[in-house]
Amino acid sequence: MRIDLHTHSRVSDGTDAPADLVRAAREHGIDVVALTDHDTAAGWDEAAAAAEETGVELVRGMEISTRHEGHSVHLLAYLPDPAYPPLAAELDKVLEGRSDRVPRMLARLNDLGIAITPDDVAAVSRDATVSGRPHVADALVRLGVVADRTEAFDRYLGWGKPAYLDRYAAGLVDTIGLVAAAGGVSVIAHPWGRSGSERPDEGDLARLVDAGLSGIEVDHQDHGPQARERLRAIARNLDLVVTGSSDYHGSGKADHDLGVNTTAPEEYARLLGLAVAASSASRRVTPEVVRP
Ligand code: AMP
Ligand code: ZN
Ligand code: FE
Ligand code: FE
Repeated sequence: MRIDLHTHSRVSDGTDAPADLVRAAREHGIDVVALTDHDTAAGWDEAAAAAEETGVELVRGMEISTRHEGHSVHLLAYLPDPAYPPLAAELDKVLEGRSDRVPRMLARLNDLGIAITPDDVAAVSRDATVSGRPHVADALVRLGVVADRTEAFDRYLGWGKPAYLDRYAAGLVDTIGLVAAAGGVSVIAHPWGRSGSERPDEGDLARLVDAGLSGIEVDHQDHGPQARERLRAIARNLDLVVTGSSDYHGSGKADHDLGVNTTAPEEYARLLGLAVAASSASRRVTPEVVRP
């Protein structure tokens, strides 16, 4: 059984429509896939219809942009009620912060002598709920300024680069609480990815467990073999669910093919068990796993 619990469609910054992503999962021999677009449930219905059709099991999720002690942390939320008003309000704020930033980034790029307009970004973000940096990157590729997204982030859009600007992110501990109150479960995405440092450390994670954290994504392309081993040991100590996922973005991210990392069936079963408990404790109407 092959289980991939972290993927993006073009409802956020992936390049496949949600239905195509589910079909691609089938073609890659994936049995269970979670759609986890950034800060939105907008792709869920389309993905669910495709899951019924193709026979792939679908977990509805999202990846929420949060901040903890000054660092950006991505939180995977599985099976929450997205209409729970406090969660919906927080997601709106995050989405607004992302789209607000685009015109300011374009002004920075214009100052650098790059003629890029809001129309150039709209042309590549199509059915995305909001445009973000990956869409600005795609527009720069189309304009011939850079070769690919990676170069766009390395030269202009990444942290500390000339067109980088901060944006709103929800507080991590508060968000874990919102996800639980919405009847869902929380897993920290690529905890030691990107930053390169081993933060959050075991002590930080222990405090997050007290706040309601259920798991950590250990097997992710941003983690080398050593980071994976250490995170696995921490998960064992703290009794956290261990997940593994591709963080697929279609053609938007190289080396993140569907199923490149997977979650063990026992860990997936534990996660679903915790989701059932969270759902009944919350008294919210939470989404079901689509089991064709
Ligand atoms: P935003 O939400 O607008 O801040 O954009 C963040 C998203 O950009 C991340 O979730 C990734 O999908 C993508 N991203 C961040 N850094 C890079 C990078 N160095 N290369 C390619 N994509 C990136
Ligand atoms: Zn992304
Ligand atoms: Fe992420
Ligand atoms: Fe992601």
